[in-house]
Amino acid sequence: MRIAVTGGKGGTGKSTVAINLAWELSKKFNVVLVDADVECPNDHILLSKKLENPREEYIFRPKFNYKKCIRCSLCVKNCSENAIVMFKEGYPFLMPTLCSGCKTCQLVCPSDAIEDDRKHIGNTYVTPVNERLTLVTGMLKEGEERSYPLVISTKKRANELNYDIIIYDTSAGTGNHVAAAIENAQLAVVVTEPTPLGLHDLKMILRLLEKEGKKGYAVINRYNIIDEMPELNGIEVLEKIPLSERILESYVKGRPLSSIFPDSEESRIFSEMANKLVGLIWQK
Ligand code: SF4
Ligand code: SF4
Repeated sequence: MRIAVTGGKGGTGKSTVAINLAWELSKKFNVVLVDADVECPNDHILLSKKLENPREEYIFRPKFNYKKCIRCSLCVKNCSENAIVMFKEGYPFLMPTLCSGCKTCQLVCPSDAIEDDRKHIGNTYVTPVNERLTLVTGMLKEGEERSYPLVISTKKRANELNYDIIIYDTSAGTGNHVAAAIENAQLAVVVTEPTPLGLHDLKMILRLLEKEGKKGYAVINRYNIIDEMPELNGIEVLEKIPLSERILESYVKGRPLSSIFPDSEESRIFSEMANKLVGLIWQK
């Protein structure tokens, strides 16, 4: 079972939902929680865990062997990022900040003149949280601009583990790194606040999910900060979470809610959310 937890902007409570959902599900299943918010991963902080088992992650970076190059310019013509430049009488050279590491140039080169000068883009970590919950984290190297390839590496590392359920905690927004994170999820939970801006973001993400052929369910966080909910126009709401001191305390202490307030109304909400999601996936 693969579930994505996503949201329109930072600070909506996406990671709080992801870690509490993972915690609840780990009471019955082997769960891998993937922190795919690689520019600013924080699930380990919310779980009071020090990241473990680091692994350096690399992407392909072309290096031209000018002894072999026949100056056919096929690499220039086939680079979708326009990262290779070649002047009339010269040889190809790379504009490194534009390169995505896709390897197309190497594949099209007819004379085997492009070697892999691999580039370190960041690290992934595998951190045990409890007997049935493992956290996989991607952390982008400082100054690295492209997060998409590291999201892919983080997901690959998670796939090396045994699990019944995998939860992808994506970064905020609708960029290609978010699309990469939700790519093989069966359904998505979209966390939002009950404000006009929150509703606008929610609709954008639901549209992205629809394009990807996935069903999205809204979770309205801090629903009680306004007197009247804006019109949701048929959007399916999975759960509504109140603004609550208990949730705030669990956040500050870096502990999942039900580990410190097992009998609270808020813990019941996360437990129900977990049960509903399992039911929805079984129905599929
Ligand atoms: S790896 Fe891809 S993006 Fe980079 S130079 Fe080659 S074709 Fe262009
Ligand atoms: S495709 Fe290969 S041979 Fe052709 S210009 Fe590029 S590096 Fe040189």
